[in-house]
Amino acid sequence: MSEFSLHLSEDQIQIQKWVHDFAENVIRPAAHEWDEAEEFPWPIVQEAAQIGLYGIDFLMNAFGDQSGLTLPVAIEELFWGDAGIGMAIMGSALAAAGITGNGTPEQVMEWVPQCYGTADKVQLGAFCVSEPDAGSDVSSLRTRAVYDEATDEWVLNGTKAWITNGGIADVHVVVAAVDPELKGRGQASFVVPPGTKGLSQGQKYKKHGIRASHTAEVVLDDVRVPGRCLLGGKEKLDAKLARAREVGRSGEKQPAMSTFEATRPAVGAQALGIARAAYEYALDYAKERRAFGKPIIMNQAIAFKLANMITEIDASRLLIWRAAWLARNGGYTNAEGSMSKYKASEVAVWVTEEAIQILGGYGYTREYPVERWHRDAKIHTIFEGTSEIQQLVISRAISGLRIE
Ligand SMILES: Cc1cc2nc3c(=O)[nH]c(=O)nc-3n(C[C@H](O)[C@H](O)[C@H](O)COP(=O)(O)OP(=O)(O)OC[C@H]3O[C@@H](n4cnc5c(N)ncnc54)[C@H](O)[C@@H]3O)c2cc1C
Repeated sequence: MSEFSLHLSEDQIQIQKWVHDFAENVIRPAAHEWDEAEEFPWPIVQEAAQIGLYGIDFLMNAFGDQSGLTLPVAIEELFWGDAGIGMAIMGSALAAAGITGNGTPEQVMEWVPQCYGTADKVQLGAFCVSEPDAGSDVSSLRTRAVYDEATDEWVLNGTKAWITNGGIADVHVVVAAVDPELKGRGQASFVVPPGTKGLSQGQKYKKHGIRASHTAEVVLDDVRVPGRCLLGGKEKLDAKLARAREVGRSGEKQPAMSTFEATRPAVGAQALGIARAAYEYALDYAKERRAFGKPIIMNQAIAFKLANMITEIDASRLLIWRAAWLARNGGYTNAEGSMSKYKASEVAVWVTEEAIQILGGYGYTREYPVERWHRDAKIHTIFEGTSEIQQLVISRAISGLRIE
């Protein structure tokens, strides 16, 4: 157990600076181009892999940090650079987290490195939970996994929606219903290895923001994966299903839910990076821009906006650091992970809108980055649990009641 401290270690300060330099020198200058192109930024991800920012070593390093702060600190800098490219670099981590959270040590060793590949041959991972008719309500997944005893294979059928890296990933982690009657307790996670027949990309979505990140449907048509691709193994799944059938309500967490809970402070840190970028830009602009004979910051109406922006940004960072520390040191008691993601994402939407207001007409044009930051911020109130779902999780945690 490590003490909670607001002082970052020497190592963490170095990582923060290293990621910031990459964000400033490589990501920021490329952000506008990739946003306009709406394409996956392969050259930038490759460059990130060359320096070790995209890859298994970086992830292991961050996960090995007992304070829990290394990951949110690095992510804040990455997303300060650009959220679309940031997602392209971070997207595989969700698949890696799904494997780590549900797999055996052998499965983690086999599949997590394949979500990243090597510096010379970059690979991607995708975590496939959401479906056209099941986003927030992950207990209602229709994708089915049926065991074929004769061949020791699982057969997957269904359609996944809004999947980051969907269809272009090498490793797809798919959450599917084994026993639909048991809802969330009847689900399991499967690795679909690279090149497996029957998995294809459906429509690629045209999005409001994070447009450099690839988001698409994933279609599973009689996809056969070997028995060893069931994360956690068959024995564990059979025992879990038997328990769920016996008890009716075992209260056991769904696999998808536990992945999301563990990654929430990291998602909060993404939103935080965008908010800080917009705040810094707006502060500089307000000191430069003159109206009525003086810099616009000399008006309280503008200066107070900036004062409120930084106060909310710092409050978000404190919630994120607390949640990240708790996740490694004792665990959440009041859904602190959800609180951090909820607060930071709402703050990012608000701060980026205020930044547009401070830039006036210029802020509304694509010549300035603040309108992109506003578009990018919005996804954070939607994915990995909408703001309403975070409020639900928090209110259930504080009340002990099943608030609907
Ligand atoms: C860019 C992008 C990337 C994504 N990446 C991934 C990914 O990699 N993997 C993946 O599995 N999914 C991914 N998603 C899906 C995302 O997680 C879902 O869109 C999200 O969970 C919301 O689900 P939904 O869209 O079905 O909305 P719905 O669940 O239909 O919600 C619609 C509205 O109703 C509200 N609502 C729903 N239920 C309740 C309730 N009980 N109480 C109060 N309000 C409620 C919601 O808050 C929301 O405002 C991604 C989505 C996007 C847009």
